[in-house]
Amino acid sequence: MADEFILTFDGDCPICERPTTFVSKDRWLRGGLTCKSCTNGSVPRERALAHVLNRIRPGWRSLAIHESSPANRGISFKMGSECKRYVGSHFHPDRKFGEIVDGFRNESLEEQTFADEVFDIVITLDVFEHVFQPGKMIKEIYRTLKPGGVYISTFPIRKHLVSSHHPRVRKEGDGSLTHLDVPEIHGNPLSGDGALVTFDYGYDIHNMLAYWAPFEVEVSRFNARRLGILGEYTEVITCLKSA
Ligand SMILES: [Zn+2]
Repeated sequence: MADEFILTFDGDCPICERPTTFVSKDRWLRGGLTCKSCTNGSVPRERALAHVLNRIRPGWRSLAIHESSPANRGISFKMGSECKRYVGSHFHPDRKFGEIVDGFRNESLEEQTFADEVFDIVITLDVFEHVFQPGKMIKEIYRTLKPGGVYISTFPIRKHLVSSHHPRVRKEGDGSLTHLDVPEIHGNPLSGDGALVTFDYGYDIHNMLAYWAPFEVEVSRFNARRLGILGEYTEVITCLKSA
């Protein structure tokens, strides 16, 4: 049907790096505004991360990259296809960590099996808000980055929240979960049950990131129609480890 899209406009995609048409069937552009030229499509936060990646590490194809929990589309697909030193990981708690499961390294972000200082770039796209121990994860990412390495991420930053992180759920000693707020579930490439949001992160999250590990932190926010980066939660958070 000609009218199936509520929004259609031309632009230049930072992922497939060509003139394209952006389309959306959904008013929630963060989940719906896709690129017609990207492999399996892409969404605004992925294009925002690609735009930052291309700007600050234009030679990323020859660098060592670790991405946690990649989706099979957009910038994740492109990094996996074009970067020879790309390592994708997924989290299978019932399997041995450090092994390859279904083509991906099995890793817990909070307790990684990688050696110190092996990656130039670490990427997470909407993963951070599902981690139970964010401080532990940030320290582990810092440990696995080389000096001068950078962690680039997206996750929702709740602009109404001043305090840096508000837990939505607590894991008890026996592994059971106590919900402290209405459960919020996001899509999960590994499970139809989705992924539970563990924390809401607020406006001063940049300070918490620098508190957890001695990163230089920058937050970029976009309203970039030409690049197809519109809608809510377009922030890209970069954490630089000093050289
Ligand atoms: Zn594209």
